[in-house]
Amino acid sequence: MPKVKNWQIGRDMEYPYPESKPQKQVAFIFDPNKCIACQTCTMACKTTWTSGKGQEYVFWNNVESKPYGFYPLGWDVQTLGLLGPQKWEGGKYAGKTVFEAAPDQESVLGYLPNERDYESPNLAEDECSASVERGEHLKGVHKKWGFYLARICNHCAYPGCLAACPRKAIYKRAEDGIVLIDQKRCRGYRECVKACPYKKPFYNNTTRVSEKCISCYPKMEATGQQSQCTTNCIGKIRLNGFKSVDPAQANKDNPFDYLIHIRKIALPLYPQFGTQPNVYYIPPVHVDPKYLLQMFGPGAEEAVKAYRNAPNDKELLAALTIFGCAEPMTSKFKAEGDLAVGIDDKGAETARVPTREPSFVREFSQKTGAFLYNNS
Ligand code: SF4
Ligand code: SF4
Repeated sequence: MPKVKNWQIGRDMEYPYPESKPQKQVAFIFDPNKCIACQTCTMACKTTWTSGKGQEYVFWNNVESKPYGFYPLGWDVQTLGLLGPQKWEGGKYAGKTVFEAAPDQESVLGYLPNERDYESPNLAEDECSASVERGEHLKGVHKKWGFYLARICNHCAYPGCLAACPRKAIYKRAEDGIVLIDQKRCRGYRECVKACPYKKPFYNNTTRVSEKCISCYPKMEATGQQSQCTTNCIGKIRLNGFKSVDPAQANKDNPFDYLIHIRKIALPLYPQFGTQPNVYYIPPVHVDPKYLLQMFGPGAEEAVKAYRNAPNDKELLAALTIFGCAEPMTSKFKAEGDLAVGIDDKGAETARVPTREPSFVREFSQKTGAFLYNNS
């Protein structure tokens, strides 16, 4: 197999096709610290793209409660189990990727979920990491944790789906790095479903071909706006736009390059799979560091520290504040006093928002022993 460079695992790796970089790369950053699992993103996607026959179980976007929620059932623990030991030596991954661990005669290590794995999209919703005893209540920092993980196709640099497709029906667009399934070439063999470690292609029983997230490319091309899941997000946890293809060309004015490559606060999901995904996550700050290391790689601890310090870090705060503040794609940002300013690729402002919300603290009343609106 040819060797390709994978910056997320800090080394070269084997991939069935030689390296071929797009002109620019579509990217998403999600901040699970702010997600409330309202599923508005899921429904915005579903009503836009997957409300037809055969798509009843199809969720190009889903949000699952971690550590026990999955869609399809067990997607990540199954692949992690198949992959074997996953060791990091500093920033270098010392284990095997899904391409390097592929069985003989196959190009990707994977598994095909069965029908029942798709039966309960919200299984384990709101369950935290350990059981809560009767009468227990929260006292300061607590050890029981959970968070919501929003997921879409990662528009990977080295897609597992593309590597496995015997029809060459899957392609990565040269102009923006979006990964698509050609519906006319696909014959529904489901090799992509088996090979994608994130289980993001879905087989449609009615059309008898596979389909997946298209990064809302028709909306982007027609209006220059961000994807439906991004602009409809209630928690303002999402940013969708373009990053530099090569980390060495990162531009600090670009919010994606800044958060992913320069501050390294937005990290890939399971980088050890080796597909070099382009949806990046800001690790949730209250979660067991061992879990974060497994899920987001060795940069998670430093990312949590930087995120906690964001209120004292004007530029970082500005980059984080523009999430969810504009429909158009933002390609540049800057901090101006206590304001975060977003700018599109034509130089027009997309957002101008305060980095600090005004707050009012009620006075404590000795008389009533409470913080009341009206203490008289
Ligand atoms: S997340 Fe899966 S479906 Fe999407 S590009 Fe990567 S391998 Fe393909
Ligand atoms: S709309 Fe936003 S806040 Fe609501 S579940 Fe989706 S990602 Fe989370």
